[in-house]
Amino acid sequence: MPKTATLLLSPKQASDPKTYVALAAHQLGVTDTRVAFARVVKRSIDARRGSPKVVMTLELFIDEEQQPAPVHFDYPQVDGKPEVVIVGAGPAGLFAALRLIELGLRPIVLERGKKVPERKVDVARINRGGEVDPNSNYAFGEGGAGTFSDGKLFTRSKKRGDYNKALQTLVFHGADPSILYEAHPHIGTDKLPRIIQNIRQTIESRGGVLLFDSQVTDIVLRGEQITGVRSGDRTYEGVAVLLSTGHSARDLYELLFRRGVALEPKPFAMGVRIEHPQALIDRIQYHQPERGDYLPAASYSLVSQEKGRGVYSFCMCPGGFIVPAMTRSDESVVNGMSPSGRNSPYANSGLVVEIRPEDFAPLRAEYGVLAGMRFQQQFEQLARQWGGDRQMAPAQRVADFVAGRDSTSLPPCSYVPGIVASRLDRWMPALISDRLRAGLRSFERKMHGYLTNEAVVVGVESRTSTPVRIPRDPVTHMHPVVKGLFPVGEGAGYAGGIISAALDGERSAEAAAQFARSRKAH
Ligand SMILES: Cc1cc2nc3c(=O)[nH]c(=O)nc-3n(C[C@H](O)[C@H](O)[C@H](O)COP(=O)(O)OP(=O)(O)OC[C@H]3O[C@@H](n4cnc5c(N)ncnc54)[C@H](O)[C@@H]3O)c2cc1C
Repeated sequence: MPKTATLLLSPKQASDPKTYVALAAHQLGVTDTRVAFARVVKRSIDARRGSPKVVMTLELFIDEEQQPAPVHFDYPQVDGKPEVVIVGAGPAGLFAALRLIELGLRPIVLERGKKVPERKVDVARINRGGEVDPNSNYAFGEGGAGTFSDGKLFTRSKKRGDYNKALQTLVFHGADPSILYEAHPHIGTDKLPRIIQNIRQTIESRGGVLLFDSQVTDIVLRGEQITGVRSGDRTYEGVAVLLSTGHSARDLYELLFRRGVALEPKPFAMGVRIEHPQALIDRIQYHQPERGDYLPAASYSLVSQEKGRGVYSFCMCPGGFIVPAMTRSDESVVNGMSPSGRNSPYANSGLVVEIRPEDFAPLRAEYGVLAGMRFQQQFEQLARQWGGDRQMAPAQRVADFVAGRDSTSLPPCSYVPGIVASRLDRWMPALISDRLRAGLRSFERKMHGYLTNEAVVVGVESRTSTPVRIPRDPVTHMHPVVKGLFPVGEGAGYAGGIISAALDGERSAEAAAQFARSRKAH
C-alpha cells in the first residue's frame, strides 16, 4: 500500500515537485531515496483567510511497492455488431458512443456540423464579426459545445466512480493527468479540440461511424417505436436512437413538436456576462495586492436570492475571454472560455436570473410547449438589435448599470467582435435587469470591489440550459411514449456541463444496450 501525506504548502513550494515530495517523505519519516514514485491525489487552494495556501495530498510508493498502472482503456471491435444511432457528437453523444463500443454495439453518430479543423475556420470568422454558419459555430460541430468551451470539469454527480472514469477517459485521450486530482479540474479551450479528435479516432478505429455535415431533419416512426432518423435523402436505422443534440438545436425541438413527440417546458436562466480585470478578482479573492508568480488566476462563485428568484454566477472563466456563442446571425449570445494557462488579463462569468414557465406564459398560446425557447430567442434578438444589428454586443459599465446611468465610455473587454454602449435596463425584461442589479449589490457585500465601473456587463447570456425537456423514464432512460428513443444530455434536460453530459451519455448508452438485448430476447 502506498503511504499518504497531506501537506499545507506555500504556492511556491506547491509549484516544485522536488520540494513537496521531500516534505511528504519527511512527514512520513522516510528518506527521499526510498521514494520510488510519488503522485498527487488531491490539490486545492485555501484562500479563505491570510495568505493563500495549497493543500496537497500525495501518495508515496516506497521501495518495491507496486506502482499504479497508467490510465488505459481497451475498446473492442464492433464491426458487424447491432447498430445504435446517435444524433449529435457533443460530450453526451461521444461518451455514449464510447460506452456502446465497450458494450459491444456499433454507434452510428450523425453530426450536423463539421470536423474540428474546418469548424475552427468558421469559429474564427464569427470572432471577426462575420456570418454565423447555422451548422458550424461555437455550439455545433465535432465535440458540440464542449470543443471550444472552457473545459471546467465540475459536476454535482454523486457517483464518484463514474466521475473518475469520465476524467480517466479524457486523460486516455490526451488531457493532462492533473485533472484527476485538482479540486477544480480544467482543461482549457486550447487543449480540448485535440482530445475531441482523439475520441473520434478511438470510435472510428473500433468500427464506429461518425458522419459530419449530417443534420437530422426527421425521425422514422413505426407506430410508437422509433426505427431510425433521416438526414438529407438517407435513412439511418438502428436498434435504438439516442438524441443528444444539445440545448441550441431549436429546429430539433420544433421537429419533435411537429411529429407529436411529448415535450415539457422547463425553468432555465438568462442574464449577462460580467467581465472584470483579472487582477481585481485576484486582489479580492487572495486578500493581497498581487497574485504573484505561483497562484492561478482566481475564480469565484456567487449566489443570492432576489425577489424570490435565484441570481447566480455561471461558468466563471478566470484568465479567459468572452466569445460569440450564437447559432444564427440574427441573434446575439455570449459565453466564456479560457485557455489552459488562464493567462488573459480578464475574468468573466455568466450572471443569470432564474426564469420560470410563468414568465413566458403569454407566449404559450402561440408557441405551446416551445414558448420558453421563443422567449429565450426574443431576448437574443433584442441583444442583436441593441448591438447595432452586428456581431457587437450591447454592454454597460457595472456601476452604471446598477445606478441606471448611461455609460459614456466602456472599459477594455476581451470580446473580440467588440462591445457597444447600451442602457441594458431599457430593453431587457425588468424581471431580469432588476434582479441582476439587486444581485450585484448582494455580491458586492460578499466580494468587496466587485461592483465597480472597472467591470462591464455584456449582453446576453441566454444558453445556460435548455428551456424544453424531452421526457424520459427515470429507470429505462427511454421516452415514455416513443419506444427506442433515448433523450440524452443537456438538450434533453438531463445534464448541465461537459461531465454531466458525458455521464448521461454513458448511462443512456447502457439503457439503450439493455433495450436492444430485451428486443432481441423477444
Ligand atoms: C463557450 C462555452 C464554454 C463552456 N464552458 C464549459 C465549462 O467550462 N464546463 C462545462 O462543464 N461546460 C461548459 N460549457 C457547456 C458544455 O459545453 C455543454 O454543457 C456540453 O457540451 C453539453 O453536451 P451535450 O453533448 O449534451 O450537447 P452539445 O455539446 O450541445 O452537443 C450537441 C451536438 O448535437 C449536434 N446537433 C444538434 N442538432 C443536430 C441535428 N439535428 N442533427 C445532427 N446533429 C445535431 C450539434 O451540432 C452538437 O455538436 C460551455 C459551453 C460553451 C458554449
